[in-house]
Amino acid sequence: MIPARFVYRRAGTAEEALSLLAEHGDDAKVIAGGHSLLPLMKLRLSVPEFLVDIGRVPDLSYIRGEDDHIAIGALTRYHDLEHSDLLAEELPLLANASGKVGDPQVRHRGTIGGSIAHGDSASDVPAVVLALDGVLVVSGPSGVREIPSGEFFRGPFETALEPDELLTEIRLPRPASPAWSFQKLTSRAIDWAIVAVVVQGESVALVNMGSTPLRATAVERALADGAAIPDAAAQAAEGTSPFADRNAGPDYRRHLARVLTRRALEEAATRAG
Ligand SMILES: Cc1cc2nc3c(=O)[nH]c(=O)nc-3n(C[C@H](O)[C@H](O)[C@H](O)COP(=O)(O)OP(=O)(O)OC[C@H]3O[C@@H](n4cnc5c(N)ncnc54)[C@H](O)[C@@H]3O)c2cc1C
Repeated sequence: MIPARFVYRRAGTAEEALSLLAEHGDDAKVIAGGHSLLPLMKLRLSVPEFLVDIGRVPDLSYIRGEDDHIAIGALTRYHDLEHSDLLAEELPLLANASGKVGDPQVRHRGTIGGSIAHGDSASDVPAVVLALDGVLVVSGPSGVREIPSGEFFRGPFETALEPDELLTEIRLPRPASPAWSFQKLTSRAIDWAIVAVVVQGESVALVNMGSTPLRATAVERALADGAAIPDAAAQAAEGTSPFADRNAGPDYRRHLARVLTRRALEEAATRAG
């Protein structure tokens, strides 16, 4: 449970972090809150030779209302998302989902950027970003690029981020509909989801139903065609590939996806009035 030796550098600015990443390439890893990376390092599933700590870079932690979207700095911690007045007003889905991540310790350290960059399909916030059609702003040696969330999550713990790039901002369109719900089933209150379902308007996304966060496209199509909620929710497992772990097998996960989607759609409809 002791990580392999590594060199540690704390970056004072995003530019400094980028130049350290450029220098050390594949041997380097960014560390933000450390709540996903450090456990992997302790298990030696990740063995970076060089750690670039961005945890104290100023100006990467913010939640701002822009013209047509809400901009969130990658270093913004769950605790701040959970308690943001702006999100409570304009994007309660994200505040609610953030408040259900892990325990208070995790929410005080873990960052939205770390969760997205980590690319774990069991994580909650990536599915929220996917349901909202969010955009990930990434800086690297060749400048800044904006990646639609639909293209960002590529496989288990694999994203469109290059090793010398930094995720700096998450842009979330202001939702047009007041209908939202986040339904998460866990074996213990502080755990990752066995399955979770995100609904915003007629967008539906699934946590832990495959190797990446997924859009429940069959449900979305059914809703767009005017299907009743139970009929739409019955299609929640279409196109998914859930796995087995000590909490659940694939069949139970498919069942949960259908049940939680129905609950989420019903709650969202109630909120919309
Ligand atoms: C006990 C426990 C319970 C948890 N429960 C939940 C849960 O219920 N739901 C849930 O969703 N998550 C859960 N988590 C995971 C937690 O939410 C993640 O640790 C956190 O979101 C990741 O953010 P971080 O800042 O800690 O990332 P780090 O651990 O610092 O980094 C994670 C990965 O992202 C990369 N990275 C980080 N920031 C950037 C950046 N800005 N640009 C490029 N790459 C970057 C790192 O190089 C690393 O590969 C839990 C964790 C623990 C320890």
